[in-house]
Amino acid sequence: MQNKLDQLQFDNRFIHELPADQTSGLHPRQVEGACYSAVTPTPVTAPQLVAYAKEVAELFDLSEDDCKSDYFTQVFAGNKLAKGMQPYAMCYGGHQFGNWAGQLGDGRAINLGEVLNQQGERWTMQLKGAGLTPYSRTADGLAVLRSSVREFLCSEAMHHLGVPTTRALSLVTTGEQVVRDMFYSGNPQLEKGAVVCRVAPSFIRFGSFEIHAARNNVDLLRELVGYTIRTHFPHLGRPGVTTYLAWFNEVCAKTAEMIVQWQRVGFVHGVMNTDNMSILGLTIDYGPYGWLDNYDPDWTPNTTDREYRRYRFGNQPQIAGWNLNQLANAIYPLIEQVEPLQDALRLYSQTFIDSYQNMINEKLGLQVFKPATDKQLQDDLLKILVLTETDMTIFYRKLANISTEIDLTDAQLMAELQAAYYHPEQLTEAIEMQIISWLRQYIARVQQDKTDDMRRKQMMNSVNPKYVLRNYLAQLAIDKAEQGDNSMVNELLEVLRHPYDEQPEHQTWAEKRPDWARTKAGCSMLSCSS
Ligand code: AMP
Ligand code: MG
Repeated sequence: MQNKLDQLQFDNRFIHELPADQTSGLHPRQVEGACYSAVTPTPVTAPQLVAYAKEVAELFDLSEDDCKSDYFTQVFAGNKLAKGMQPYAMCYGGHQFGNWAGQLGDGRAINLGEVLNQQGERWTMQLKGAGLTPYSRTADGLAVLRSSVREFLCSEAMHHLGVPTTRALSLVTTGEQVVRDMFYSGNPQLEKGAVVCRVAPSFIRFGSFEIHAARNNVDLLRELVGYTIRTHFPHLGRPGVTTYLAWFNEVCAKTAEMIVQWQRVGFVHGVMNTDNMSILGLTIDYGPYGWLDNYDPDWTPNTTDREYRRYRFGNQPQIAGWNLNQLANAIYPLIEQVEPLQDALRLYSQTFIDSYQNMINEKLGLQVFKPATDKQLQDDLLKILVLTETDMTIFYRKLANISTEIDLTDAQLMAELQAAYYHPEQLTEAIEMQIISWLRQYIARVQQDKTDDMRRKQMMNSVNPKYVLRNYLAQLAIDKAEQGDNSMVNELLEVLRHPYDEQPEHQTWAEKRPDWARTKAGCSMLSCSS
């Protein structure tokens, strides 16, 4: 019987409608006047399936048997091309850590093509870690198991949390060894190679536009913007100045929404360079990302960013604005008016603030945001969360249990939150008084809404996850996978499918980061080496 993968309907519009690199071969080069280069994945010796995401497989009508077939592993390791696949690497540039870095491009990502599924949706499949491309610069085009597990699990975890993100279909090991110096400390090690198949409507980034603007290629810039609008924003109508502005406004709105969602779940991207900003407002490129254990707006998991902490949790909204500014500069030649672009950027800030305030109110189980009382309540909340190390995820789940219908004593109130504190012994009387005073303010505010406790708990637990991909959990799964045991990768995937459910049998994965993980590599510190 013909394999299902050979029956997918490919419609590779990106490469059919946009200009290709005229030079062939994989040697590193500047690719001008083109949006992509045709490349083929590099074959690997002994690919093995580690995990696949069934919900993503379902987007392609692939069954469990299809995904467990040898052919599936061969295709998503880069050894075979299914019918209709036309692999290519995209050309883009980017601002890295605030500086223009010139051409970057898919140095280790290879798009396989765009599938039109049964629902009429367009999904691009992309291998990450499948070998050299003309954009690999001095690197090897490969990815290691450690970073691939992180990308695979987090893509799916974010999706199930309701955060806009690229998806992950599969994770395979290649049977090859890859050299990495994890902390750039002169200690190169051999690690297992791996490939993730990512899936998204498009992998176009802010940097995809910036590169043509930087090269003064306004015609190609216009072509790519037109393509993006026709393909991914068709409701905006025919390309033209008005449409370009409507489009930019929509990109601002989508980006604001994505960042609000990151702040809701405590996700820190770690490398918000403009080449890592999706034009569709999807979380993209899971590198040295991390999850807040204790709430700390200054925290970044990325050791490369340790000095200035540009991409720290609390700075993500500002950085997204800065990145949108770069995109505005890039498309300016198509618009040639500063004011409407600035208006859109202002709208980004306002949209973010409004949406953020509503989001925090939802986390608190409150109805509409009332500026007169709720601004202060939210500001004070952020203050009490940093008085002593407080686990953000646990705090909100426990807050949902606090009764606003029964009069609780101070001690009873504190007892409810106990599990969220990393150092209960640091809860001095003064600190407790501040927490209790906030709780009393909060209870009074809930009572104004007249929401009963049961209902409020339901509301809160539907936006405050119980399970997130805590950094140490990902690392435990990686440690096992590196020993050839994929069980925890698959168990985590399963638990993270229902992050808002209690799942009492998995309670240990909802608990505070254990002490040993505080300083362990991979659990609290990550580098860009992947
Ligand atoms: P990132 O920091 O992962 O967003 O990557 C920045 C740029 O470096 C992108 O153009 C990547 O494709 C490229 N890159 C990162 N790692 C590798 C690698 N191992 N081989 C080739 N290119 C890479
Ligand atoms: Mg990247």
